[in-house]
Amino acid sequence: MWQRIKGALQRFMMGRHGGDQLSLAMLIVGLVLSLLSTFTRFMPLYWLGMIAYIWGIFRMFSRNDAKRNEENQRWVTFWTRFKTEIRQFFVRLKNFRKYKYFKCPQCKSRLRLPRKVGEVTVTCSKCKHQFKQKA
Ligand SMILES: [Zn+2]
Repeated sequence: MWQRIKGALQRFMMGRHGGDQLSLAMLIVGLVLSLLSTFTRFMPLYWLGMIAYIWGIFRMFSRNDAKRNEENQRWVTFWTRFKTEIRQFFVRLKNFRKYKYFKCPQCKSRLRLPRKVGEVTVTCSKCKHQFKQKA
């Protein structure tokens, strides 16, 4: 009995995309939003949650594997960047008194100087651009 169900399920999922990080994220978003909507009684949250849910499930059963992989790749890249940004934000917050943080005017990469060094010429570690910076 279970064998047959398993077999049928396997046949059904054949050539379909299956679960990935983006679908998982959508299911979690759907769950969180629908929980929030029950607490706040704010119905648009519920509908947004349902859309996230349906999109997540649609992606799992989708037969367009290439498209889904591309979406998932974009999501993973975004999420990794987002997590790094958050982590760096807290590091900057912690070292706020010790360092002045600023961006390279040319390549926008983030740099720092110890506070109270006065005006110095900074060489960007990434693009080697030189500029004056007060700290
Ligand atoms: Zn630079």
